[in-house]
Amino acid sequence: MHLDPFELHRPESVDETLELARRYAGSFDYLAGGTDLLPNYKMHLNLRPHLIALEDVGELRGHSLDRIGAMTRLADLERDPEFLRSYPAIAEAVREVATPLVRASGTLGGNLFLETRCFFFNQSYFWRQSLGFCMKADGDQCHVVPQKEKCYATFSGDLAPALMVLDAEAEIRGPGGARRVPIGELYDGAGDGIRRTRLAPGELLVAVHLPASARRRRSTYRKLRVRPSFDFPELGVAAAGRWEGDRLEELSLAAGGLETYPRRFDALTSPLLGAPLTDTKIEEVASKLRGLVRPVHNTFLAPDYRKKMAGVFTRRALAGIRPGATA
Ligand SMILES: Cc1cc2nc3c(=O)[nH]c(=O)nc-3n(C[C@H](O)[C@H](O)[C@H](O)COP(=O)(O)OP(=O)(O)OC[C@H]3O[C@@H](n4cnc5c(N)ncnc54)[C@H](O)[C@@H]3O)c2cc1C
Ligand code: SF4
Repeated sequence: MHLDPFELHRPESVDETLELARRYAGSFDYLAGGTDLLPNYKMHLNLRPHLIALEDVGELRGHSLDRIGAMTRLADLERDPEFLRSYPAIAEAVREVATPLVRASGTLGGNLFLETRCFFFNQSYFWRQSLGFCMKADGDQCHVVPQKEKCYATFSGDLAPALMVLDAEAEIRGPGGARRVPIGELYDGAGDGIRRTRLAPGELLVAVHLPASARRRRSTYRKLRVRPSFDFPELGVAAAGRWEGDRLEELSLAAGGLETYPRRFDALTSPLLGAPLTDTKIEEVASKLRGLVRPVHNTFLAPDYRKKMAGVFTRRALAGIRPGATA
């Protein structure tokens, strides 16, 4: 597999980046670490003639406990003990992304916006051609759910659920100015599954902000994958909570790797506030979450198994953040 030629642009500021995005509207991709985009380009998946590299854009770099620049490498987070101690869910998610080599190049921004996955999509051009392609690239059919309305490719990023349960916000800049939204609102759950985010054309993630309250929460991220050495999540469940004595004051739960977008389950967790988190309540939430999620058959593990394991991992995540829990 080879990379087709493209024109590479190397802006040094957000303003310069947005000017390039305006000039090449509709015919460019942003390039961060390239660990997702370039393999996809090699497979001829939705190629664009222009790549705008974010490497030299100063405003996207660096991280602290409050702010993670979009171009922060996952390995940089992994090497910061204070950051890892402050946010156990992010620590667990970051360590489980791919391999050390991929994490040395892969960035936070790229992780939040990585292409959704499906085993009829992540294939070479010739493999896909033999099946007549599919809606997500070059074709007009879906091999997973054979209708022509929606793509069910799976969101397989590890960091989004972990950031969602900590109430992190995305700082975005674009032609329309600057805005901040909760991480969960980056994803278009009601869309066609092909356009995977709610970013407007040309919009750029500048940074992710973490509120001080996130550091007071106990949190965890539990991931299911086939090969623990480097596979994408078949499901990932994050949970975060804060207690006063044995009384639950805050609780959030999010899952990824199951559907076209990561989602938070506030309707399941809100009724639990103000009381202890008992085994019975955990079991109820796990069972309800299992009933809500709708994986399809487009990754290695069968949908029924992933659904069942979503309940198991939810139970483990909630039990794992209770005061006194050891795992
Ligand atoms: C073998 C292998 C295993 C992997 N396993 C995992 C895994 O287990 N879990 C996981 O989460 N990921 C996994 N990945 C995917 C990927 O490596 C990581 O998600 C990585 O963090 C992507 O970051 P990147 O900087 O390389 O993104 P890129 O490939 O540069 O970009 C990905 C997408 O994000 C967009 N983008 C990047 N930055 C911005 C920005 N600031 N604003 C707007 N759009 C932006 C790009 O345009 C592109 O569409 C794996 C990849 C490989 C090759
Ligand atoms: S879910 Fe259907 S349309 Fe989407 S990538 Fe897979 S085969 Fe293609």
